[in-house]
Amino acid sequence: MSHLSVDLAIIGAGIVGLAHALAAARRGKRVVLLERSEHATGASIRNFGLVWPIGQPAGPRHDRALRSREIWSDVSADTGIYLAATGSLHLAYHDDEWALLNEFAGPTMGDNHGRALLSPTETLLRSTVVNPTGLRGSLWSPTEATVDPRQAIRTLPEWLRDRHGVTLQFGTTVHAINLPRIDTSVGPVFAEQAIICSGADFETLFPASFAAAPLTRCKLQMLRTVDQPAGWSLGPALCAGLTLTHYESFRHCAGLAALKTRMQSEFPFHVAHGVHVLLSETSRGALTIGDSHHYGLTPEPFDREDINAAILGYLRSFAVAPTLEIAERWHGVYPKLTDGGSEFIASPAPGVTIVNGLGGAGMTLSFGLAEEVIGRLY
Ligand SMILES: Cc1cc2nc3c(=O)[nH]c(=O)nc-3n(C[C@H](O)[C@H](O)[C@H](O)COP(=O)(O)OP(=O)(O)OC[C@H]3O[C@@H](n4cnc5c(N)ncnc54)[C@H](O)[C@@H]3O)c2cc1C
Repeated sequence: MSHLSVDLAIIGAGIVGLAHALAAARRGKRVVLLERSEHATGASIRNFGLVWPIGQPAGPRHDRALRSREIWSDVSADTGIYLAATGSLHLAYHDDEWALLNEFAGPTMGDNHGRALLSPTETLLRSTVVNPTGLRGSLWSPTEATVDPRQAIRTLPEWLRDRHGVTLQFGTTVHAINLPRIDTSVGPVFAEQAIICSGADFETLFPASFAAAPLTRCKLQMLRTVDQPAGWSLGPALCAGLTLTHYESFRHCAGLAALKTRMQSEFPFHVAHGVHVLLSETSRGALTIGDSHHYGLTPEPFDREDINAAILGYLRSFAVAPTLEIAERWHGVYPKLTDGGSEFIASPAPGVTIVNGLGGAGMTLSFGLAEEVIGRLY
């Protein structure tokens, strides 16, 4: 009986595994992509699809996000995967939010990547969806884009197979790796190297390495509206004050502590449940709305309607869409590093690499990170 033998086996066909498969195949490596489900159903299809460089701190992580954004553009052009290069608006309705945006993007910031502080009038020229009442101004950024995660994560494996010669073995659980042998639910595969991109599954492969890592899980609640009327478009992805307290890119701002104090006193429920609100649009014109953040190794299986109501309530304070009738509610879980790091990379055995822990930025960082990881391996 002949068995598959390749240069590199990748376990997990979420965005992290897909990105590594692409980077390795582009270097001429023979790659097999092994995925437990018939179609990946993890964090990568459950997200907003936001490629969000502005959330990454200036320096190598921001550069990695911009590189990922370039690769998404190339991939979209080749595959037809929906990518809307809409940019983003961070909206300010309070003096402390406006001051923080000025601190973040003011003239002392050096290379600001085309960002601009906009008056209320200029903001409303960029977006007809923004609620004008009480608007102090906004930060425009051209680097953000939206992909459709459900389409992308379904389309990318077939494209990797057809265009880059990647072998797909879906419906295949990997339960042990002793290179060159990889034991799967449908028999062994042989590979010189393996990269484990198992997302929130810390228990199946090298569980001791995961247990020793500063990793936990984060559960997020999400909503999607019915399709908006034909011809309507969101334009830039939108967010507001609560988001300024969430992303690491704003951590250096002196105004952040006071903003957090006000948010804690005005929105204690939102803060307690990690609610900040982003708005993106799918290829069909529905709005994706979220989210909340609950940390812990065993996420609560049940979703809470009061959290969804808090998300929608905050959304209404800054966005006015034709309809907020909800068509779908779901939650996703991603691995999160507890030490502030941006990724967890480990080698639990010779030839085996774990890539994990990208937190809420897997769509934003994976393509760039994969080029770096594959570059180091080969
Ligand atoms: C609700 C939500 C919103 C988000 N929004 C954004 C966003 O807008 N922008 C952004 O940049 N990031 C966002 N993120 C984060 C992003 O989705 C994650 O960082 C990313 O999807 C993680 O990808 P992954 O490949 O590690 O995991 P996953 O997508 O979970 O994939 C892991 C895969 O590995 C497979 N697997 C595991 N173990 C095995 C095994 N032993 N054998 C075979 N297969 C195995 C699983 O079946 C799964 O398909 C969001 C996340 C969530 C949950």
